[in-house]
Amino acid sequence: MPNGFLSEPVQYIKGVGPKRAELLKKIGISTIADALFYLPFRYEDRSSLKKINQLQPDEMTTVRGEVARCELVRRRKGFSILEVTVSDNSGHITAKFFNQPFLKKIFKIGKSLYISGTVKTNRYLGVGFEMENPEYEAIEDESDRHVHTLRIVPVYRSTSGLGQKTLRGLLHSIVESCAGKLKEYMPDDIIVKHSFPGLEDAVRNVHFPEDDNIDLNKYNSGTSRFHKRLSFDELFLYQIGVIKIKSDIVEKKGISFVSPPSLTSELRALLDFELTGAQERVVAEIFSDMESENQMNRLIQGDVGSGKTVVAVMAMLKALENGYKAVMMVPTELLAQQHYQNITKLLKGIQIKCALLTSGEKINEDEPDIIIGTHALIQKGFSLDKLGLAIVDEQHRFGVRQRAQLRKKGTDPDVLVMTATPIPRTLAMTLYGDLDHSVIDELPPGRKPIDTMVFMESEKNKVYDILRREIGKGGQAYIVYPVIEEDEELNLRSAELGYEAFKELFRDRAIDLVHGRIRPEDRNEIMNRFKSGDIDILVGTTVIEVGVDVPNANVMVIVHAERFGLSQLHQLRGRVGRGERGSFCVLLVYGEPGEEAVRRIRAMERTSDGFKIAEEDLNIRGPGDFFGTDQSGYPQLRIANLIRDRELLELSRSEAVVILEKDPMLDRYPDLRQRANKMWENRTELYNTV
Ligand code: ADP
Ligand code: MG
Repeated sequence: MPNGFLSEPVQYIKGVGPKRAELLKKIGISTIADALFYLPFRYEDRSSLKKINQLQPDEMTTVRGEVARCELVRRRKGFSILEVTVSDNSGHITAKFFNQPFLKKIFKIGKSLYISGTVKTNRYLGVGFEMENPEYEAIEDESDRHVHTLRIVPVYRSTSGLGQKTLRGLLHSIVESCAGKLKEYMPDDIIVKHSFPGLEDAVRNVHFPEDDNIDLNKYNSGTSRFHKRLSFDELFLYQIGVIKIKSDIVEKKGISFVSPPSLTSELRALLDFELTGAQERVVAEIFSDMESENQMNRLIQGDVGSGKTVVAVMAMLKALENGYKAVMMVPTELLAQQHYQNITKLLKGIQIKCALLTSGEKINEDEPDIIIGTHALIQKGFSLDKLGLAIVDEQHRFGVRQRAQLRKKGTDPDVLVMTATPIPRTLAMTLYGDLDHSVIDELPPGRKPIDTMVFMESEKNKVYDILRREIGKGGQAYIVYPVIEEDEELNLRSAELGYEAFKELFRDRAIDLVHGRIRPEDRNEIMNRFKSGDIDILVGTTVIEVGVDVPNANVMVIVHAERFGLSQLHQLRGRVGRGERGSFCVLLVYGEPGEEAVRRIRAMERTSDGFKIAEEDLNIRGPGDFFGTDQSGYPQLRIANLIRDRELLELSRSEAVVILEKDPMLDRYPDLRQRANKMWENRTELYNTV
């Protein structure tokens, strides 16, 4: 293995040791590779060296001089200032170090050093210059390369206990000792075609830019040619993984569901609505996958309320009419129960057995045809003969791994995943490149737009007025809180206290409370009473976020709207606007919302289009957060940024397609293959089970 050293632990690098290794682990650095590809989040220009008598206030600069004085000037409990006066032959400047008395040992009188920092006028004297907590570097040997001063200096995200200077020093020695060993693995023609710098060159320069006359803005935004090379690499390796997984699936033989329609036509005849054009199109796409002899692996994106459930039921019936069984996995018990009820209702009049499986309950049917359940479905001990179709609803709540586990419950069943968190199509194509895509981009007819309103705490009465008016007209309302119980520290209104307050405010109305700590059976019973109209106001937490479908409910009040994420707000809003009534989404905002909260709330006011919301969410949160961490099961991108590097993303996709077409096993590029395998290695369940 030519690049074997990359997976060696950093602990054994000189200067690291077990204690620092622990700290490094906290910031995601365990191996040499982690360190080499741990990029600075910004850079400081400390390259200009100035004489002390030429300094200007507020400039960031480096001076060279000798220690003339070093004194711990003030010290009360837990507070001290170490003053170090440095002079060159033109004047002197004072460096102040707060709470680092131990540095006294370092600044011996007469010692030559560089200090770098922002120049300030002495706060007490009003004349003379000082620097607070400057970077310093002793001059031991004139031929030494500078790490912390007299250069463009990298600044890394660190963690407490690991000072910037220590971290930079460690990374410097790792780059110095290891970057040279990096073997180029990128095919020559790609490097030449895009004028990429070499790998070693790129790694060295993103950490310690060699050239002083660089465009610092490009470095700070991660778009220098060296950054681009590394972002491209990451995206390229990612694409190789998803494309390979996809082609494995395509090659894998699945079941051909080719019996003539029976149950599916029965359902069509029974539905009291027509499928929308988008639903029809997606059903056709699914059916064509199911009929083909290859295994289906398809993602259905559809905004809240676009009618994914009936599409899923059509697919299940197709499996059934071919003599197979189907399962559907959903993220919460509440949703499992709701789906179970909705689907049972949809299937009324059709001879099939539908069962529910949650951790609380056993399967309530002998030999069911369809099982709807939670994670319990992928737990050991459960398996299903003749499983032909596995569906995962609200897939963003599950990882790739769970999807793969579900698939293992049968022999190569077709797989359908559904999500109401739409992401921009180009992104989806690249990121979830292992899946085929269908989009239900149309809402069922007759949906009235939802009126979204924002109120501050002082305008609470207006919210009560809306509730009174709408409930008076026979509507129903959800009131959602961020927490179940009061938490003084967080200073948040809670569902429990809100429930009490609303009971007082609306004495003549039926009010109930639902949250995650209420027993599943009771929760379900409450939901059913809400559904049948026996409850006017349902106070709760985000347990009602996903999938709940009560068409008569037309008011959604979100308390502490500033606390919720954008996609969560959108999901919650999607609970109303499902019936005949005009609907309202009220965002009740407390305190002074931060900048991001304001952007989220604005986005909610501006649009109800899930794709636009998702795009905005991506912009606000950044891709790391947006796609969640390990949960998704896809490799995490550490260097590339999906917004900034969109062009590179597309480039990497097309280059990956080209190379895999020429050489599917990458036989001619063993080093490249090794790197791609490395990126995907802990995801072998995904690799192996698909
Ligand atoms: P989601 O995509 O959010 O899961 P659902 O499947 O829960 O949406 O559907 C939302 C509501 O729309 C349900 O009440 C469902 O019966 C209804 N519905 C679905 N398709 C249609 C259609 N083509 N015409 C009318 N109503 C529909
Ligand atoms: Mg749904």
